Amino acid sequence: MDSINQEVDLNFHYEITTFVYQFLHKQKMKRALIVSTSTIYGSSYLEYILPEVKVFFGDKKNIVFIPFARPGGISHDDYTSLAKEKFAEIGLNIKGIHEFEDQEAAIAKADGFFTGGGNTFLLVKQLHELGLMKAIKYAVENGALYMGTSAGCNITGLNMKTTNDMPIVLPSSFDTLGLVPFNMNPHYLDPDPTSKHKGETRETRIKEFHTQNNTPVVGLREGSWLEVNNETVTLKGKLDARIFEQGKTPYELSSGAKIKF
Ligand code: ASP
Repeated sequence: MDSINQEVDLNFHYEITTFVYQFLHKQKMKRALIVSTSTIYGSSYLEYILPEVKVFFGDKKNIVFIPFARPGGISHDDYTSLAKEKFAEIGLNIKGIHEFEDQEAAIAKADGFFTGGGNTFLLVKQLHELGLMKAIKYAVENGALYMGTSAGCNITGLNMKTTNDMPIVLPSSFDTLGLVPFNMNPHYLDPDPTSKHKGETRETRIKEFHTQNNTPVVGLREGSWLEVNNETVTLKGKLDARIFEQGKTPYELSSGAKIKF
């Protein structure tokens, strides 16, 4: 009799613990793939990262695509079709946010997001205007998955001040999702010592940023990405990343290393 009671007790304890664990994790789990670029030299759109994307989204059904950055000025529909085709190759279905009547509700219900690249100013302007920046942040901090390439990578930082894009429109704020406590510089380019070009190098531009701001910046080279698991941020891909901190000499971070500031 005692051992039966003990077993019932243990089962009950197990169920409660599992429930609490799942509840907490659903509420608190923050997972993101912050990707420098959608396309690397010699391969098609998303091709090099598709196996990672498949593992990341797993069996998630309800993935919302954010096409607002409109690379090359293409329409939201055309951009969504491009991403949809690629995601279909790994058995995932996505729907463009512009296809929903109630976009805030769509964000709240989504299992995950994919924000494509293009012009970061355009992307940020629309996300603020439509009230979606806050909605996406809340959803991701409460368990929805986030993947962003290029401009979609820029908006995972504290603000968009370290984008490479031209200010083709004026957003109401440069503040972004703040999923990580630093800023991104995607498509990071090393200075070419043989170049005769006299314009600023990327490193110079980021140094200028640090004369006015103290937010650390991660220069993510093409083919690199960050994997975010709650507060743990790991550099992935074949290349190292270049890290810029105010008042320090820039330094390299090896692939596989964790980012801590
Ligand atoms: N224009 C880039 C992209 O989304 C973003 C950047 O370089 O800052 O592809």
